[in-house]
Amino acid sequence: MSEAPGSFNVLSLHVLGTSSAKPTKGRSVSGSYLMTPGGAVLVDCGEGMQERIAVHDRWLRRIGSEDRTRLGRVRAVLLTHGHLDHCWGLLPMLHTMDKDGRTAPLAIHGPTSRAALRWVEEGHNSAPSLDSGIHPGDLAIQFDWWRRHGGKEGTLRFDVEWNLHPVDDIGIDGVEILNLDGTLFHAFQTNHGVPSIAYRVRTPSVPGRFNIEDARASGLDENAIRDIAKDSNSDEHRGPRRQERTLILSGDTAANVSSFNESIGPVDVLVHEATFDDAHEEQASAYGHSTARQAAHVGVEMGARLVALNHFSSRFQDLSHLGDEAAEIHPNCHLLEDGDRLQVDRDGMIRVDRRTADAWANILHLGLE
Ligand SMILES: [Zn+2]
Repeated sequence: MSEAPGSFNVLSLHVLGTSSAKPTKGRSVSGSYLMTPGGAVLVDCGEGMQERIAVHDRWLRRIGSEDRTRLGRVRAVLLTHGHLDHCWGLLPMLHTMDKDGRTAPLAIHGPTSRAALRWVEEGHNSAPSLDSGIHPGDLAIQFDWWRRHGGKEGTLRFDVEWNLHPVDDIGIDGVEILNLDGTLFHAFQTNHGVPSIAYRVRTPSVPGRFNIEDARASGLDENAIRDIAKDSNSDEHRGPRRQERTLILSGDTAANVSSFNESIGPVDVLVHEATFDDAHEEQASAYGHSTARQAAHVGVEMGARLVALNHFSSRFQDLSHLGDEAAEIHPNCHLLEDGDRLQVDRDGMIRVDRRTADAWANILHLGLE
């Protein structure tokens, strides 16, 4: 095991699916487990998500890691859009949670449109027609169906809070959708043909490092020093306060998102899709996706320190050329694999560790400049 002793990671993202549309060898469809200071959330939930979380957690337990992915700890599920490779695993996962004896409430968030909300309110019993302007896969329509088929009150022993966010109301400044004990989640509209959003996760700032020599030199006794050291609201005998840490988790999107610029920042890590390579740029824009190079450009525009790429087309066996194309644009790009753990600590250190047979292999380490 290679976990740094005493490290305190404010954000720990366990990536559990990096393939687009269909699972391939070693790559599942979308879904990640994110631990924050305010608790755990899932970002997207493709098929088999509960099993992926359990397999990963067993592996973490086996190597003695404290950074686990327990399904019961998940406080919220954040869906980026209604395509099935991003959400089809949600309803079965709710039933697994119920069978595990869950009683804590669960919040589910996802994008929709005003038109789709109206369609659901009107109580139609059929899917909207193609010329209605409403995508039948809009999450408002799926949530309505799921609630009636297994997600409703009385079926599950815990409360599910279904939250829909009309993208019509989300300006380029984003909207706050969730506050988990000070860790803030903002939604930003993306561009994917169906209502789609990216999530910005921002942790609160924390006090600077406690300087015990400085405290002793001021004549305090050991008890007083211990009390001050424990008091996270005190800046006494501490270095400068440590800033918020920020992660952007974008689902499927074309690269032309108006809010994706430096005003969204500062950004430690941008997780962005890279479905295609340079040779498929036309397909990327036709289907509301991005190339690896375009994703790296977004990272530059945002001022992201690291661009982590995922959601790769199953046509690519070898992804190294996508990495090369992205690296021409942004100096720090990383091609994610299933099982990767991406961490940001409170001092701003970023690291990526890869799951191997019996340990973490550290494959990337990025300090503050
Ligand atoms: Zn999609």
